[in-house]
Amino acid sequence: MTEEQHGRMPTGTVSVTSGAATHVGSVRETNEDSLLVAPPLYMVADGMGGHEAGEVASAIAVEEFGRLEGATELRIEDLGVALRRAEARIDAIGTAGPLSAGTTVALVGTMVLDDVGYWVVMNLGDSRVYRMSRDAFEQVSVDHSVVQELVDAGEITPAEARVHPYRNMITRALGAGPQSDPDYWLIPGEVGDRMLVCSDGLTGEVEDAAIERVLRRGGTPQEACEELVGLALAEGAHDNVTVVVVEATDIAGAIDLDATDPRRPVLSDPAHEDTLPRHAGGIA
Ligand code: MG
Repeated sequence: MTEEQHGRMPTGTVSVTSGAATHVGSVRETNEDSLLVAPPLYMVADGMGGHEAGEVASAIAVEEFGRLEGATELRIEDLGVALRRAEARIDAIGTAGPLSAGTTVALVGTMVLDDVGYWVVMNLGDSRVYRMSRDAFEQVSVDHSVVQELVDAGEITPAEARVHPYRNMITRALGAGPQSDPDYWLIPGEVGDRMLVCSDGLTGEVEDAAIERVLRRGGTPQEACEELVGLALAEGAHDNVTVVVVEATDIAGAIDLDATDPRRPVLSDPAHEDTLPRHAGGIA
């Protein structure tokens, strides 16, 4: 089989294009959301706290993660360091005055492990990361929110969660409370994947099915972002709306090679054995 017929050889790179858009919405006076497009990181932060504290908190988070722009070997530990740096600065806002400040953090990064390209996803709060792949559209992150806990307990449905009176109460955030441990996911990337990072100003207004339709329609990531913000505005945009879309144009690691192709990557680290398909020979 030729390379032209069966995908790409491992190159140690993940190539993407991206777009981003944010809007104050139709009700709020200020936009407390912040966004970051800083390859290999793409992030949304939804700030909270009165008198501009939310704006400051989300901006601090973006600034600290922005230090990783251009990182050629992104590591999970780097994300944790950025998070704790941001947390210390946000906590200092609270101790300096009467205001408590906090922010959500939702991000997607590109990462290469053993010549295979991955999406790394991190979440803290109720901003979200979705993945649209060739075969599926799914919410990757799990909200840290009261209504998510009620859904998990089987007490309400996801549809009821969207209109529940407690829908804005989050259980973890950066600053503004004791719970600030993020969740992480590592997902093998495929060419054509579109990752969406967004604040709840999108998902509170627009249903997942409508979001998927926009992402599948094609066009550029920037066009998709503007269309998604437009949908939220059409629904009333009761909150700030922020979206970032990252599309994989080339992924290292030959995920799409035929299963019998001997060039299929073999991982040397057994810890990865459940995260990637590999040829019948198993781990070297
Ligand atoms: Mg919000």
